[in-house]
Amino acid sequence: MVTAAPGEERSLALALVNTRRLTAGGVDDDLAEPSAAAEWLRLTAASLDADDLSRITDLRAAVRELLAALAEDRSPAASAVETVNAAARADAAAPQLTWPAGPHREWHSTSPGSVEEALAAVARDAIDVVTGDLGPLVRPCEAHGCVRFFFREHARRRWCSTTCGDRVRAARHQRLVVEQRESPQREA
Ligand SMILES: [Zn+2]
Repeated sequence: MVTAAPGEERSLALALVNTRRLTAGGVDDDLAEPSAAAEWLRLTAASLDADDLSRITDLRAAVRELLAALAEDRSPAASAVETVNAAARADAAAPQLTWPAGPHREWHSTSPGSVEEALAAVARDAIDVVTGDLGPLVRPCEAHGCVRFFFREHARRRWCSTTCGDRVRAARHQRLVVEQRESPQREA
């Protein structure tokens, strides 16, 4: 079980990017199979084929490029911007105001339950994140070998999870031990 990185509960786009992870054993991908991807997007499995799956993974790569560009303070590849925009406009959803216990915005799709709706929701969120208040908080995990992103809601946070933090501290400790062993004169 993988713990969510800080911010995933607030952003579908961030959660999508983090569905692909590097582990000691190689790549770990929550969307490797159409059925798994359908479940992730809360669609029925029958509604997703291999083409749809590549649209999802293309969108994921594009959103990753946007987050990386933000964190690195550079412009993203134009193709990534276009991929996100294409996904956002593939479903002609409209914002609708509801007022259950206060004002609330909902997007009403013209094709509810479709892949287009699901991908458009992620793309809209990606656009909201990079243009909004969350944008400056986007950070890549600094642990070696980790490719997840998170929202840095606490100024000192550098890892996506305590697992990554512990791994970095263990590696640092190991390095110190080796250095001391190799240069014992330093201790004199
Ligand atoms: Zn990490």
